[in-house]
Amino acid sequence: MRILVTGGAGFLGSHLCERLLNEGNEVICLDNFFTGRKENIKHLLDDYRFELIRHDITEPIFLEVDQIYNLACPASPVHYQYNPVKTVKTSVMGAINMLGLAKRVKARIFQASTSEVYGDPLVHPQTEDYWGNVNTLGLRACYDEGKRVAETLFMDYRRQNGVDTRIVRIFNTYGPRMLENDGRVVSNFIVQALRGEELTIYGTGEQTRSFCYVDDLIEGFIRLMNTEADDIHRPVNIGNPGEFTMNELAQEVAKAVGKDIKITHLPLPKDDPKQRKPNIERAQRLLGWSPTIPLAEGLKKTVAYFAERLENSK
Ligand code: NAD
Ligand code: UDP
Repeated sequence: MRILVTGGAGFLGSHLCERLLNEGNEVICLDNFFTGRKENIKHLLDDYRFELIRHDITEPIFLEVDQIYNLACPASPVHYQYNPVKTVKTSVMGAINMLGLAKRVKARIFQASTSEVYGDPLVHPQTEDYWGNVNTLGLRACYDEGKRVAETLFMDYRRQNGVDTRIVRIFNTYGPRMLENDGRVVSNFIVQALRGEELTIYGTGEQTRSFCYVDDLIEGFIRLMNTEADDIHRPVNIGNPGEFTMNELAQEVAKAVGKDIKITHLPLPKDDPKQRKPNIERAQRLLGWSPTIPLAEGLKKTVAYFAERLENSK
């Protein structure tokens, strides 16, 4: 198949491009390089089945493809709050442009949605039928509401135009190729620990997240995209249900780095969700998918990646 991956030079997109090429597909990687980098995909550039296009998905594009994975959107709060209006445009106009393309060429299309659609959740763990608790006026809304509208567009293009859609709600995912200045907690803690700096815990550190290793996530993507079932177009949570406080995560990072760590507490960002953990029964039932890589193992692989990067940048 010929497969378009938007945001393909980013953290998750680069792993997805690699996996799709390994399975014998042609891959078109589209990216505006806001948070993505050529380095993430440079090992793919020699493959004649791989094409790279610098393009912004807020503008339409005409291509002939069989499948579309729509991942383009900054994912770290630091990056998506840098230009919040652009973040909304990327989610909403990007979804319209990609859904229009899917409609025209009759391609199946996959949306990278997020656990952020649940906001600061009052239901725990989160099931897909929970409607969420999002502050529409807050600093995170550009991302959360943008992703919520994108889900609406996916459902309406399906109902109105018969577009063949899939929606994944991704929970916090980590692994090699995250940016070291990404601002997300796993990369921050690992880079700080490797540099012998204090780990920056926001607030009391008692808020929780559930962390999925990137390879497990990509396996879930591929299964969701290629499964048929009556309600397969409705969102599916993909994430690792292992739930950790940020204080516990700091200790896990210390173990993975094999060093004593120092900690400093910084103010908690506004609207920071207090808890997050996926209910993955739907993914287990429909896709036969469960995560296989525990946090300690995934952190070791991620530490090895950052250790090498920091060494090479000396
Ligand atoms: P990332 O920032 O590494 O990747 C996003 C990619 O999209 C980058 O390469 C960036 O340059 C590109 N991009 C941004 N705006 C664009 C635009 N207007 N046009 C073209 N390209 C654009 O983030 P990631 O972690 O790889 O996330 C990928 C997708 O998964 C995003 O849609 C994100 O919302 C979603 N997601 C990720 C997580 C996670 O934990 N990593 C969790 C939930 C959802
Ligand atoms: N966090 C932290 N220190 C950091 C970065 C983040 O304590 O250096 C906290 C943040 O306040 C949040 C959690 O870690 O409670 C996860 O943050 P991240 O930005 O990785 O993802 P999200 O909040 O979008 O789930």
